[in-house]
Amino acid sequence: MAGWPTYCARCGGPAVALIEAGHPGSGRYRAEVACGRHQAAATRWASHAGPTRTTPIGNTQPALFELPEVTR
Ligand SMILES: [Zn+2]
Repeated sequence: MAGWPTYCARCGGPAVALIEAGHPGSGRYRAEVACGRHQAAATRWASHAGPTRTTPIGNTQPALFELPEVTR
């Protein structure tokens, strides 16, 4: 996952997700990393290029990937 900035494109805060729409190289591609506050706005912006895809960026929200712990 290296190469994506991990700061919100709008406020510079810690990003929680990469929002993409369209296809790279097609001329209708939009991608933006956003924090929790700007995720909805980024999704609206990206949706002009088509259906959006959201990829969580795990480093600031480990709870997204919380797994049940096996204790033994
Ligand atoms: Zn933000």
